[in-house]
Amino acid sequence: MKVLITGGAGYIGSVTTRVLLARGHDVEVLDDFSTGHREALPPGIPLHEGSLLDAGFVDRVLAAPPDAVLHFAAFSLVGESAAHPLKYYRNNVGGSVNLLDAVARSGVRRFVFSSSAAVYGEPDEMPITEHAPTRPVNPYGHTKLAIEWALADTAAAVGFPAVALRYFNACGASRELGEDHEPETHLIPRLLRSLVDPGVDFAVFGDDYPTPDGTCIRDYVHVVDLAEAHALALEGDLRPGLSVYNLGTETGASVREVLAAAAAVTGREIAPRIEPRRPGDPARLVAGNARARRDLGWRPRADGLTSILADAWRWHRDHPRGYRG
Ligand code: UDP
Repeated sequence: MKVLITGGAGYIGSVTTRVLLARGHDVEVLDDFSTGHREALPPGIPLHEGSLLDAGFVDRVLAAPPDAVLHFAAFSLVGESAAHPLKYYRNNVGGSVNLLDAVARSGVRRFVFSSSAAVYGEPDEMPITEHAPTRPVNPYGHTKLAIEWALADTAAAVGFPAVALRYFNACGASRELGEDHEPETHLIPRLLRSLVDPGVDFAVFGDDYPTPDGTCIRDYVHVVDLAEAHALALEGDLRPGLSVYNLGTETGASVREVLAAAAAVTGREIAPRIEPRRPGDPARLVAGNARARRDLGWRPRADGLTSILADAWRWHRDHPRGYRG
């Protein structure tokens, strides 16, 4: 299948690009390199360099329509989204509207969107199923939900199948590709960077949550498993309109459990400073994934956290300055 990947130079997009190439798809990437890395692209891959905010550019890219679009390109820093909401609405929602507009006028037959657990906000019931109410608590989550609505309405009006994949905590690495955000806000890369470079600070944000060890519980899912879910969504039978799937493992790990697993994998002693809670962090977020298992045949790896940490550790040691070296 000819597939256009927006944000293909980003963390999850670049891993998915490689997985789709390995499965024989004909992949093109669209990226503006605002946060992605040229080094994350396979040599020679067809590249459309530009912004989704440029509607003329998007129309030209879609003039030779692919069979499917995988839409990863977005800003994704929750804290920044609270400080600069319109930056997020403009880029994430505005860019997606331009893309959907061009898709609606083209022959694209399938659309897969990178959504987020952030659409749920702070749900009352765990594990979180796709039936849970969507009540985002920050502008980033609002933009992801707004795009889901725009996608659902466009897919219904035009009559193509679409998928929104709601990621829980993406982490880990493939052999060549890893997590390199600037600034980095996520637990595992921050922790591993601090082990690679003692000059990098690391702290635990809050140990007084209502959880067994007082630290927040999250559902950590390997980035290669996420990439495989995209391949399954691309290749499987889908009904018309929007289908929504959680991508998580149904297993929660606390920050302290992540630190203990990281100590075991790296052989390093980890004794972090404890800081106050980070505003807006729910105590516990764990995905129900029965729907993705049933409809997509998705099977996230069972040894999740250990393989996530082993793979991410190898990548961070090989790339102590991220893609810069
Ligand atoms: N966290 C932490 N120290 C860090 C980064 C994150 O203690 O340097 C905690 C954070 O408060 C949350 C968990 O780790 O409880 C996961 O945070 P992350 O930003 O990785 O993902 P989120 O669930 O917020 O999307």
